[in-house]
Amino acid sequence: MMNSNIGLSKLLNNGGDMDTLTQLKDILSDEEWLLTEHKYNPETLPVYETLFTLANGYVGVRGTLVWDTRHGWPCTFFAGVYDRALEVKSELANAPEWIGLKLIIGDELVDFEKGKLLHYNRTLDMYRGLLYEAFKWQSPKGKIVAVETLRLVHQTAKHRGLIYGRLVSENYTGKVVLEGGLNGYMFNTGYSEQLKNKHFKLVDRIPIGDSVYLEMRTYGTQITVGEASQLMVNTGFERDVRYEKDYIANALVFEVEPNKQYEFCKYVSFYTSRDLTNVKVATLNELNLMLADGYKKLIATHTSAWATRWRTADVEIEGDPVTQKSVRFSLFHLMQCVNPDDERVSIPAKGLHGEGYKGHIFWDTEMYMLPFFIYTDPKAARALLMYRYNMLEGARQNAKLNGYRGAQFPWESTDDGSETIPREVGDPFVKTYRVCEGEEEHHVVAAVAYGVDHYYRATHDHEFMSNYGLEILLETARFWASRVEFDPTRNKYVIKKLIGPDEIHYHVDNNVYTNFIAKWNLETAASYVEKFNDSEIIKKLDITPAEIAEWRQIAANILILRDERTGIYEQFEGYFNLIDVQIEPSDTGIPRIPDEWRDWDKLQRTKLIKQPDVVMLLYVFRDKFSLHEKKVNFDFYDPRTLYRSSLAASVSSIIANEIGYEELAYRYFMMSARVGLDNIYRNTQHGFHAGAAGGTWQAAVNGFAGMHIHADKLQFNPRLPKHWRKLRFTIMWRGHPIFVELTHDTFTMWGEPSHPAEGLEIVVNGRPVKVTPKKQAIPIMTCPSA
Ligand code: BGC
Repeated sequence: MMNSNIGLSKLLNNGGDMDTLTQLKDILSDEEWLLTEHKYNPETLPVYETLFTLANGYVGVRGTLVWDTRHGWPCTFFAGVYDRALEVKSELANAPEWIGLKLIIGDELVDFEKGKLLHYNRTLDMYRGLLYEAFKWQSPKGKIVAVETLRLVHQTAKHRGLIYGRLVSENYTGKVVLEGGLNGYMFNTGYSEQLKNKHFKLVDRIPIGDSVYLEMRTYGTQITVGEASQLMVNTGFERDVRYEKDYIANALVFEVEPNKQYEFCKYVSFYTSRDLTNVKVATLNELNLMLADGYKKLIATHTSAWATRWRTADVEIEGDPVTQKSVRFSLFHLMQCVNPDDERVSIPAKGLHGEGYKGHIFWDTEMYMLPFFIYTDPKAARALLMYRYNMLEGARQNAKLNGYRGAQFPWESTDDGSETIPREVGDPFVKTYRVCEGEEEHHVVAAVAYGVDHYYRATHDHEFMSNYGLEILLETARFWASRVEFDPTRNKYVIKKLIGPDEIHYHVDNNVYTNFIAKWNLETAASYVEKFNDSEIIKKLDITPAEIAEWRQIAANILILRDERTGIYEQFEGYFNLIDVQIEPSDTGIPRIPDEWRDWDKLQRTKLIKQPDVVMLLYVFRDKFSLHEKKVNFDFYDPRTLYRSSLAASVSSIIANEIGYEELAYRYFMMSARVGLDNIYRNTQHGFHAGAAGGTWQAAVNGFAGMHIHADKLQFNPRLPKHWRKLRFTIMWRGHPIFVELTHDTFTMWGEPSHPAEGLEIVVNGRPVKVTPKKQAIPIMTCPSA
């Protein structure tokens, strides 16, 4: 975890000693924290843009090249800045881009497509949250320049971004122009060129003193975004202002001599009308404050905020450097997506990293990402749940619209709690496809309730539960009570016309995952009413004992389909009668569908499933199923799972590990951890697989370390991959950090001396242990295989 290099402190402390730093690259962390692109390739830029996205939960900026914003897929997203679009009700709007720089050497514009690129390197420093970019370029006329930049999106001062750079001319003496712009001429891509959405119209574009200011507003939602910027260089220069459509830039004209280093900075500030009314004043004030702080202070405060965050978030793995980096990649980007101070936003399925899924929020947040935050940054977890609370009114309307009671959280959510997934997708001029997820994929409702309960069990945050969480639990239970139907022939409650997590099969009845989690939702809401019986919410919602009794009676009688002979749960009614098709292995790890079954209508007639459905159930309610049940169900469903969602692999890894399939568990773990890095689904360019990243954390901590809550206690049943020497992580449990270090034969655990966890007990392989500030090493044996 320690970073041995001293470059950063040299840069930040030895103001006059810059020469000792030959390269800006020297300030980057140790190799284990770095991700590098060695070669310029316009084709793969969109992929690297996702991998190199910098964000702070308030704004996300794709890793577009500073010197070339024409190529790739530049996007700047402000969390919560949605706009109405042509094909969908609402999408995250691609806001003015602020990272671009242009460099003109004499009369030649630096352009990697021309001249010769002699050196190229981009490196993401995941420990420090910095993106390094370097090139050496020879112009068509033979001038050679080398430039290095560092970019940051400030972690705590969320309205600030910075590009700091150094320029050296190797053989040219004369004039250069450095231009740094704010570009509002941006689009969201659509299903076709005609369906591109330009979300922002120009409101204001002016130079103010030595700075420039751009203000744009979304057409539909009328959200204003203000951006201000100032460009500086440490030599004499003339300042100029340049304009293009929806674009304003500072241009600095100065003279360079060979082998002299010129430092420059582009300071940028931003606000939106979601934050306050006077966007312009706030943005310009922020810029002035930044300028007063200077780049060194910005880098120092930003990097120290990251160091603090990593202290509780890191998962250290000894003995597997590739995995180590992949896990840190997942956690770094997850942390970039969350804003603990904004309770009206949540994490889109593709983060703030790309246009994929149009910035919509799915069950991915509560089931896959939330656990990481619950156990490493509970304040952030609470904010994510508060987002759902703040969308409750929309969810109530949604339920009403569909003829139900309570609150129906939408399958895809944005800024008002209503359903955002369209009923058709595609280009209406060419071909559209019907989608039913919004009408049928209802398990998301219980996922939100599950997130609330999980957060409460781990934090005991009574204030949250009694004022907000309880309302979610009760309203979702009400939804299920109105969603079920009584089937007198079976004397059971049934749920018809569903889509389960496996999205291949539409309009199914009694999807076992959905029925089970609905049952849980009803029971859990009823038990919280007992615990919080004096809460105002119970009165406000007019919850009566008769209603609670009804929930209990439904829960006790919901149909759960299971073959009593084999112990296999039937994914939905009639699933066992579908055609059994053998899937074929492939190089990518994603199984191939045999050609004759590729067509969607045909696929529906088979037992092939998109992602774990029953297996997900076994994981979510892990102590409600025996090891034997887990094994027979995994053995049945895994060979029929197509792994067509990046959410799939982590869940399978956890169950595979629990039943003793060590190699498979590791293979699925790696698939989850490497999904974006290896571009397994060929869609990394669309954004970050945020759910898979959360799943990766769970597969490490809930899988290999075997952490789970049982009998209200935190329990561990570890089983590490053979070649891992050590696994280390921190868990926030009921307000106390617990440090865990695991080897194959010892479980070591200790608490924070400044945070005494009096009486707190955890359970390791069935043995209760008190948490103390002193390290305790508990000998362990791996659990027997199934
Ligand atoms: C998966 C869903 C997921 C969505 C967003 C789909 O492909 O099937 O489970 O919520 O992607 O990640």
